[in-house]
Amino acid sequence: MNENKRFETQVINDEILEKLSLENRYNFVKDNLRVILSDQQFNFLEKAQTFCLNYESKNKITHGPDEDIYDWVPDFGKEGYITRQTPYECIDLNYEDYGIAIEFMRILALDNFDPQFAMSTGATVICINPIYAHHENVPVRLEALKELVTGQEVGCLLITEPERGSDAVHQQTTCEEQEDGSFLLNGTKIFNTNAPKSKWAVSYATAEESNGNVMAQFLINTSWPGWTIERVNIPWTPKLFIGKEYLENLRVPKEYVLGGVGKGREHLFEGLIPERIAIAVRCISACWGALAHAVIYANMRRQFEKEILLFQGVGFSLADLWAKTTGMTHGVLKFAEIYDEKNEKYKGQIPDHISQSMVSSASQYKYNCASLAKEVCFETANLMGGAGVCDNTLMYDYIGVSRILEVVGGTKQVQQLIMSRSLRKMFRAL
Ligand SMILES: Cc1cc2nc3c(=O)[nH]c(=O)nc-3n(C[C@H](O)[C@H](O)[C@H](O)COP(=O)(O)OP(=O)(O)OC[C@H]3O[C@@H](n4cnc5c(N)ncnc54)[C@H](O)[C@@H]3O)c2cc1C
Repeated sequence: MNENKRFETQVINDEILEKLSLENRYNFVKDNLRVILSDQQFNFLEKAQTFCLNYESKNKITHGPDEDIYDWVPDFGKEGYITRQTPYECIDLNYEDYGIAIEFMRILALDNFDPQFAMSTGATVICINPIYAHHENVPVRLEALKELVTGQEVGCLLITEPERGSDAVHQQTTCEEQEDGSFLLNGTKIFNTNAPKSKWAVSYATAEESNGNVMAQFLINTSWPGWTIERVNIPWTPKLFIGKEYLENLRVPKEYVLGGVGKGREHLFEGLIPERIAIAVRCISACWGALAHAVIYANMRRQFEKEILLFQGVGFSLADLWAKTTGMTHGVLKFAEIYDEKNEKYKGQIPDHISQSMVSSASQYKYNCASLAKEVCFETANLMGGAGVCDNTLMYDYIGVSRILEVVGGTKQVQQLIMSRSLRKMFRAL
């Protein structure tokens, strides 16, 4: 009987369960990517994997239902595994390994360790990015940034509202400027990942309801009066804390205004490329995690007196999913590298004509990767039979997470809308 159990009743035999260890799954992923990663990327991936492996065994983590993934945040933060998008020189972290391609490696290692935990760090990152972009060396903003990047606190981003989901630029939450430069916020936000666990939130509001031109962006300390929160239950990701927040005359002091009236819309769009690529990477990471399980399982599970991988129905299907995942991984990694290169070249100010085309590519990758994750996670679980859908492994988490990745960061239809608009723009430019 396996001692570190995450399950109610053991379904998979000891020998296979042991082989499905995190170490073996990591080795499978590493062997697949060794050839295409640069030395820096490979070394970073290995370092992050080693940290997760030691962390799992030292803390006897089972990934079972009783564990709180938010308890792990400070330890990962101390090691610099909450985000690696930039070196964070402004808060004296000076990470040597950084950029979207390194962030890919961070997400891959964390996602294979625990997909819901990786998703929660992603939600903190989308709170970090606007603060980093607009801290203007204001001490309270730098303080919040440091707490978030180093994992002392958790963060969330408040865009979605009960009546404004995909249509994110016509918000109903209002902001009213006061004589002293502070703002009063009123409205309701919903589906905000991490919010019930967050100290810091970045929120959008508008000076006039449903008018995207007068939006503003705010940093909020969730302990301020006027903030009330309820947890939204998402059964697909039971360990994530998702919030519905009521902002009632919530006063945001002047130094916490990241973007005044008229700046909100621009701020909303500027982070789209890294945000969508990070979701694409989470999708790919889920594919690798699910494949690692299914490949190990199918090589050991015997039916009709042979390993099920040897039946074409199983082996050829796994080969198909593996090939698709490899191809998509190469594409997204190349895109991440190009983004880093341009970001370096233009010192973080990528010119509009390049950035617009990258926005469409980021949408294409988010769209394709979410669709691939849906296919790979569902099909690999099926190829494992009952073992793939019970609670003995992380497969159940992969199915749940892949379900959510289709919705967050803009649904499939919204990505299609963005892409079709780009096609129109390209035609007009001919
Ligand atoms: C688990 C989870 C975590 C989330 N985390 C966050 C977060 O951290 N912060 C945050 O702000 N939000 C978050 N969201 C919200 C998420 O971004 C929205 O759910 C998403 O944008 C869709 O909005 P909606 O749910 O209101 O659906 P709606 O916008 O009502 O869409 C319903 C359907 O209509 C389709 N549709 C809408 N408009 C169009 C169109 N123009 N053309 C074609 N089809 C269209 C959609 O594709 C969808 O199928 C999260 C959601 C979930 C489920």
